Amino acid sequence: MTTLTATNPRTGIADYRCPATSRDELAAIAGRLRRGQASWAKLSVRDRGQALAEFGEQILERRDELLERLASDTGRLPLSRVEIDGIGHKIERDTRRAVEVFDSADGARSVSGPLSAHRLVEPYPLVGNITPWNFPVSLAFLDSLQALLAGSAMIVKPSEVTPRFIQPVQDAIEATPLVRDVFAFIAGDGATGAALVDEVDYICFTGSVATGQKVYAAAGARFIPASMELGGKDPAIVLDDVDVERAAASVLYGAILASGQICTSIERVYVDSTIHREFIDTIVALAKRAGTNIDDECGILVPFIHRPQADVFRRHVDDARSRGGRIVHGGQTQGDGGVWPSATVIDEANGDMLTMSEEAFSPIVPIQAFETDEQAIRLANDTRYGLSAVVYGRDLERASRVASAIRCGAASVNLSRAHIRMRAFEQETFGKSGIGKNRIGDDGFTRFCRRHALITGDFDEMAALEAEQVDVAFPER
Ligand code: NAD
Repeated sequence: MTTLTATNPRTGIADYRCPATSRDELAAIAGRLRRGQASWAKLSVRDRGQALAEFGEQILERRDELLERLASDTGRLPLSRVEIDGIGHKIERDTRRAVEVFDSADGARSVSGPLSAHRLVEPYPLVGNITPWNFPVSLAFLDSLQALLAGSAMIVKPSEVTPRFIQPVQDAIEATPLVRDVFAFIAGDGATGAALVDEVDYICFTGSVATGQKVYAAAGARFIPASMELGGKDPAIVLDDVDVERAAASVLYGAILASGQICTSIERVYVDSTIHREFIDTIVALAKRAGTNIDDECGILVPFIHRPQADVFRRHVDDARSRGGRIVHGGQTQGDGGVWPSATVIDEANGDMLTMSEEAFSPIVPIQAFETDEQAIRLANDTRYGLSAVVYGRDLERASRVASAIRCGAASVNLSRAHIRMRAFEQETFGKSGIGKNRIGDDGFTRFCRRHALITGDFDEMAALEAEQVDVAFPER
């Protein structure tokens, strides 16, 4: 039996163990959920939403335990509150949206001459969801609720780095009629994730590009659809007509929140050369004020959840220094047991640096000056990723022109991560940041349903329609 071991990122102590779900256990869960899904799919979307709302109440009853466990795995209490309290809101919001989406899709009918076509909507029976450690609870529920509302059953495999929340969530599932027949969490590492891909009819994956490529290949081999949400290297462009203080604050916040352990963190910054010096001075002054959550729970800089991230951070900083970057603030880590990175501002960044091309997932803000808007666009697009981007500028037309030229899922103007407030709009990512329909917009729900057609016609009318071809094909001799 494989045992998972989790480390508390604040203490660096491995203080939690749990068994991984075996292949046989997974196969039994998959079989049980497939049986449950047949009745679940027959419920109305509203009834599925009602069952999920009851599950949300069971989560609420376990809120304190969940909070304690999630904060122990992530080292951050306020963000853990946001993650757990977000489940209920998400159930409510997704149910409302699913009713709208499926009400307009259900029973669509079209008439062409004597033919009628009816749309049939059939959910993929069993969906799998493999998730990372950076927002363990939020990411476990994002795709899952949409699949459940669409009528699929769902098995979630969270990251082995943050498994503590699994047990209370599973308890909440088991306490909820209907939901317990179609929803399950399993514990395990990459091998369990690979086994899950082998069991399901559709796979959702959120994680690194390297693992995503393996999962996509495994899904391809099984010929099942996949939604891949992968890493990013999101750029910010600061045009010359901004209020520098406000733009610098927004860039810094977007880059160092949760110590940069967010897929859509700002990871590279291009600043118009005419305001570059003022921007550097301002962002350094702000970085000095960025608090850590070592002694109190509220600082923006939290420990690295996954210890190997500390090596990634150091490698990016050392590489930038060796390639001419000036570390104008930060560059170190602190802590005894846990590892807290400092807000790190690098001036004179250039495209040869690792930290301008590879995801750092750390609070690193590398800054490069540009001369023209066209050059800024070229630099922003010089990447293998394409998750999101932000452009700051007072002239909205100009800033929007620059932003719309950036090849990414969502380019915002004047607000970092504005896309998370705009979930009704499809945001399909570019490059290696993902592939397949994703969780944003109506596709978030409809991707879990195969839409096929029933085309009908009256027997005699169809015979008349085909008579001419039949006569030509089978001439009387
Ligand atoms: P990871 O790729 O190492 O692991 C993700 C999950 O994949 C884990 O549950 C892991 O156990 C599982 N896994 C590993 N090998 C597997 C295999 N062969 N088959 C199936 N599953 C396997 O990623 P991580 O380090 O946990 O997360 C960080 C990454 O996630 C970053 O790159 C970040 O940008 C990305 N991320 C993306 C989004 C998004 O929405 N685009 C959101 C959050 C995080």
